Amino acid sequence: MKNSFLKASLYLCLLVISACEKAPTTISYDDAAIANESQTNDWLAYGRTHNERRFSPSDQINEGNVAKLKVDWFLDLPKDVGLVSTPLVVDGTLYFTGTMNVIRAVNAATGKLLWEYDPKVAEAIRGTQRTGWKHNRGISFYEGKLFAATWDGRLFALDAQSGKELWMVRTFDIDRALYITGAPKAFNGLVLIGNGGTESGPTRGWVTAYHADTGEEAWKFYIVPGNPADGFENAAMEMAAKTWTGEWWRHGGGGNAWHGFTYDPEFNAIYIGTGNGSPWNRKIRSPGGGDNLFLCSIVALDADTGEYLWHYQTTPGESWDYNSNMDIVLADLALGDDEKPVKAILHAPKNGFFYVIDRETGKLVSAEPFVETTWATHIDIETGRPVEVPGARYETDTAYITPNAYGGHSWHAMSYSSETGLAYIPAQHYATNYSDLGFDIEGFQMEPFVGGFGVNPLPAEQPEEYPSSLIAWDPVNQESVWEIPQKSGPNGGTLTTAGNLLFQGRADGRFLAYDATTGDELWNFDMGLGMTAAPITFELNGKQYVSMLVGWGGGSAGIGSLFSTEKYSGSNLGWDYGKHMRRLVTFSLDGSAEMPAQPPPHFPEPLEAPEFEIDAALAQQGALEFGACLGCHGFNAVASGMAPDLRASAIPLEKDSFAAVVRDGALVAGGMPGTPGISDAQLEALQHYIRHRARETL
Ligand code: CA
Repeated sequence: MKNSFLKASLYLCLLVISACEKAPTTISYDDAAIANESQTNDWLAYGRTHNERRFSPSDQINEGNVAKLKVDWFLDLPKDVGLVSTPLVVDGTLYFTGTMNVIRAVNAATGKLLWEYDPKVAEAIRGTQRTGWKHNRGISFYEGKLFAATWDGRLFALDAQSGKELWMVRTFDIDRALYITGAPKAFNGLVLIGNGGTESGPTRGWVTAYHADTGEEAWKFYIVPGNPADGFENAAMEMAAKTWTGEWWRHGGGGNAWHGFTYDPEFNAIYIGTGNGSPWNRKIRSPGGGDNLFLCSIVALDADTGEYLWHYQTTPGESWDYNSNMDIVLADLALGDDEKPVKAILHAPKNGFFYVIDRETGKLVSAEPFVETTWATHIDIETGRPVEVPGARYETDTAYITPNAYGGHSWHAMSYSSETGLAYIPAQHYATNYSDLGFDIEGFQMEPFVGGFGVNPLPAEQPEEYPSSLIAWDPVNQESVWEIPQKSGPNGGTLTTAGNLLFQGRADGRFLAYDATTGDELWNFDMGLGMTAAPITFELNGKQYVSMLVGWGGGSAGIGSLFSTEKYSGSNLGWDYGKHMRRLVTFSLDGSAEMPAQPPPHFPEPLEAPEFEIDAALAQQGALEFGACLGCHGFNAVASGMAPDLRASAIPLEKDSFAAVVRDGALVAGGMPGTPGISDAQLEALQHYIRHRARETL
C-alpha cells in the first residue's frame, strides 16, 4: 500500500517535472533528422542537411512567381560589420552568428529578436596580439543545442531555447597565432572544430571533436606529422611523414582545417577539407620534395574514434596556397547506364579542378577544370594526380599562375540540385605571378603573428575579362552547362530549390534569382550593400521564406584591392566602413515590409594633412610593416569596408592616439586588436607609409 502510494507520488512528480522541463518542441533533432533531405521547414546544418547540398525541396516560390518576391521582414544590425554566415532555422526560430561571434535567435516569421548571446570576444583578446578576422561563417545545431566558435579559439554550446551557455572550452591557447572563422560541425553526439592561421606563423593543423553534451574532448586528429623524434600520434601520421623531407616541423607544415567539414551517416565518416602548406613554398617547407600529406586533401575519419579511413589529395606538394577547405557535398550520381549510383563527394577547391570522388573508397572518379588552370594541364585518372605544367613551381623563374591564392572557388558556398543535377559554383578568375627570387630559402623562418608565404605573390595579367562568374556545373559529364560572368567579386554562396530556382547575393549589392536549369535571370533586388553570405529558405505555417544576411565581408573583402587592376573593379565598390546598415532580410511572396534604402556607395577621401612631412625611407619601411594590417585595412592601404580606410582617418596622424589603438588596443571592442610588442619605430614607419599612400591617392 505504502509502496504503491510512493510509486504513484513519484510518477506524479515525474509527470510534473517533465511537464515543466518539456520544451515547446517534441521533435528530436538527431542525425537522422539533420540528414533528412525531404523536410521543407528547417535549415538544420551549415549546408541545410548533413549532405551539405543547400538544396531545398520547397517549391512554393518558383520560376513562375519569384518575380513577386518582396521583403517580408528585416532586422537591422547596426553594430555588425562583415556578415558572412549561413543562418539555421529550427522549428520556427532562426539562429545566426554575426560580427565578433554574437549569436542571435529571432522569430523566423516576424524577425523579432528572442535572445542574444555575446561571447565577449573583445575581452578575450584584450592585451594579446591577435590574427585573423572578426567574422564567422556559421553555427551548428544538435539535439536542442547550438554550437559556435570564437575568433580567439573558444568553442561553446548554448541551449537553443534560452540562449543560456551550457559549456565553453578553449580549443587553443590565447597566445597562439591561430583563429577560428568557421562553423563547428555537430554530428554523432560530437562537435568538431579546426582553426585557421597557416599564413600567420609556423603552424601544424588539427581538428578536435568534443562531446556535444559536456564539451569534453573525444578525439583529436593532426593533419600533418610533427617531429618524428617526438613519436607519431598514430599510423596515419607515420605514413604521412614519409611524404615530407627536411625539418618540416620547424615550419609547422600547415594544413589548417578552417572550413569544409561534412558528416556522412551512411559510412559513419567525417570528411575534413585540409589546408595549404606552411609556408606556401615547398622548397622551404620540404626541401627534398614530397607530397606532404595530408595538405590540400579530403581526409575521411571514423566518426566515433577519429581514426584515419582514407584520403584524397587534390594538390600534392602544394606551392600556391591551394587548400582544399571548400565545401564537401554528398550526392549519389548515376554514372553510366547499368551501374548503380556512385556515392560521391563533389568538391571544387581553390586549385580550379572539379572533383568527383567515390566516398566509399576515396578513389577519384573524375576531375576537370572549371576555370583556367595554368599550373596543371589535367588530372590523370589512373593515378589520381595532377599533371603539372613545367615551371609552375617557380623552380627557376617567376610562374604565371591561375587560379591564384583567392582560389578558382573559395569558401563561398557551392550548392547542388538533385533535380537539375547541377552544382552551382561562385567561381573566381584571378592570376598571380609567383616568385621566390631573392628569397633566403634556407634561412627562411616564419615568426608567430608576423607570418608570411615564403614566396612573393606579384601582380599579373588577369585571365578573363571578368573577376568572377556563376558556373552551373554538370558533375556527371564534368562540364560547364552555363556560366554568368560577373563584374565584381567575390560573390556570395548559392542556394537552389525544387522551384527550379537558384539564389545568389553579389558583391555589387544585387540579390538575384535565376532559372536553375537555364541561368535566365528571373528576379533582381537591390540590397544597397554587397553580400558575401549564402541565402537560406524555410517554411513556416505553410509559407515559404528566403533569408539573407547582408554585410559585405570575408578575407577577400578585407584585403580589397590586392588583385584589382584597371580591368577588374576588384572589391572597391564603395561599401565604406560604417556607412551602410548591416541587415538580416527575409522575403516571401506576400511580403509588405518597408525597408529604408541604403546610402549610395561611398569612397573615403584621404586626409591631406600638409603639415606632415613624409620621410621616404620610413614610408618604405612602413609598407613592409603594413603587411600585418592589410588583411582588414586593405592592400596598398585602400580599404574596402571591412575596417576603416586609414588614409582617411585622423588617428594615424597623431603619435599618441595611433599608439593607443595599435599598441594598446584602445579600439579592441570594434575588432582592432592591440599589438603590445610593436615598437615606436615601427609605429612611426606605419604613420609615414599611411600618409604617403594618402597623398599618392588624393
Ligand atoms: Ca591559406
